[in-house]
Amino acid sequence: MSELPFWKTKTLEEMDQREWESLCDGCGLCCLNKLEDWDTGDVVFTSVRCRLMDGHTCRCTDYDNRQATVPECIQLTPAAVDEIAWLPPTCGYRLLREGRDLYWWHPLLSGDPETVHQAGISARGHETVCETDVPVEDFEDYVVDWPWKVGEGSEKVPG
Ligand code: SF4
Ligand code: SF4
Repeated sequence: MSELPFWKTKTLEEMDQREWESLCDGCGLCCLNKLEDWDTGDVVFTSVRCRLMDGHTCRCTDYDNRQATVPECIQLTPAAVDEIAWLPPTCGYRLLREGRDLYWWHPLLSGDPETVHQAGISARGHETVCETDVPVEDFEDYVVDWPWKVGEGSEKVPG
């Protein structure tokens, strides 16, 4: 009988730091700027990426010290996962919180950090622009809906 992986046996609250961090698939979608409608609370994504996000790797270029440069960067916690309505539908934290399983391309299953990109889930392959190159009043010109979509390669295991 094979042993179940930690994400099937532990709640988000029970995971240690290493397990918690490994739930992030590296899609980079949460590092895109969002706009919130003050009246409705609705949130839309833009293709304007955080100044610390590498547009190709989709990773934070200074993760350990990010708060010094980007103090508004959100620290994901189990409580925050419950509160944040804009986590993408493919986000590992959101999937597990909703009682769903990780997709085949999640690095924890595939063993390969590239599969999130190969499956079309991540921000890679989409045109993004750094927030230092766009005046904040123009962010609304960059609204996109692709972060909400589960990529075509999500369900189908290649081969
Ligand atoms: S959306 Fe979720 S899985 Fe993707 S980078 Fe952000 S925390 Fe990680
Ligand atoms: S500081 Fe890093 S982790 Fe935070 S939003 Fe920017 S790129 Fe993402």
